[in-house]
Amino acid sequence: MTDLQPIFPLDKPVIIAGPCSAETEEQVMETARGLAANGIKIFRAGIWKPRTKPGGFEGVGEAGLPWLTRVKDETGMRIATEVATRAHVLSAIEAGMDLLWIGARTSANPFAMQEVADAIAESGKDVAVLVKNPVNPDLELWIGALQRIYNAGVRRLGAIHRGFSAYGKHLYRNVPQWRIPIELRRRYPDLPIICDPSHIGGKRELVGPLSQQALDMGFDGLIIESHCNPDCALSDKSQQVTPEVLNYLLDTIVVRDTTASTENLALLRHEIDRIDNDLVELLAKRMEVSRDIGQYKKEHRMPILQAQRYDTILSSRVKQGQQMDMSGEFMRTVFSAIHEESVRQQIEIFNSRI
Ligand code: PEP
Ligand code: MN
Repeated sequence: MTDLQPIFPLDKPVIIAGPCSAETEEQVMETARGLAANGIKIFRAGIWKPRTKPGGFEGVGEAGLPWLTRVKDETGMRIATEVATRAHVLSAIEAGMDLLWIGARTSANPFAMQEVADAIAESGKDVAVLVKNPVNPDLELWIGALQRIYNAGVRRLGAIHRGFSAYGKHLYRNVPQWRIPIELRRRYPDLPIICDPSHIGGKRELVGPLSQQALDMGFDGLIIESHCNPDCALSDKSQQVTPEVLNYLLDTIVVRDTTASTENLALLRHEIDRIDNDLVELLAKRMEVSRDIGQYKKEHRMPILQAQRYDTILSSRVKQGQQMDMSGEFMRTVFSAIHEESVRQQIEIFNSRI
């Protein structure tokens, strides 16, 4: 993907804001006026909403397109919406959409991506396109989706990092796995990457810190959900902020102008922070399983310490680590410490009354 062009001639960071979904003309206009008054230049709103389960609010459909056109006419903001089919692309372009984005459920599907890419080529319009990462943490699939759009002739192309679905409860709605967009940046340094802190965090309080983190890591912009009355939103209400709160958030964010070398260093340090974070989460998960084993041993009157099992674990982990260029001594230290803590946690279980 060479000869890429800026999505719009705007200063970095590029800020895209607007409601998760267009719900009524009034809600769209009120939100848009609030955002335009605060200097936002690109307005987003979902017209067709992919929902995980049937029965949710699936968007107002084509009826909402003229509302976005009105936003453009009355506020001068550029307008953006999500597309997933040929029909979406053609009617969105017809309505004067300046920017199309492709959602995470669509970018995971090569057939749908190709249909969207073909429709963009068919329209013959020079439209800007942002491709969200697929729901699953698959960088190649994300790149493949971007390439399909690139091959359709789009040069004002970028990526949106919105985090990845994971089973179980997490701090984030979609776990960020920052190393994936960082690797995308390494491979395609000219491809703009926009962060979507609203869908990563899933809660209002996380939007600010995630936005700061993304900019510190050298992302080119942010796409943030904003609604004039978030508590009454028909979709994603807990992560939307009012235009006023968004203005406050953007005012508090520090945009660091870094030179190439310090930016790289900051990127790498952030990656280390992320990995340490993952390590701690994984260790906690391991301890949880250990406690379950402790409970089982207690119920079955088995002793905590099973020397042979410990021995097998230790030697297999040491070997595995050595194959990955880590010293045997280091692996032994790490795994004996982990084992020691597991035993301590199981003793706690044995000593508890239940
Ligand atoms: C959205 O941007 O409102 C949306 C549906 O996001 P995603 O595709 O990231 O889930
Ligand atoms: Mn949303």
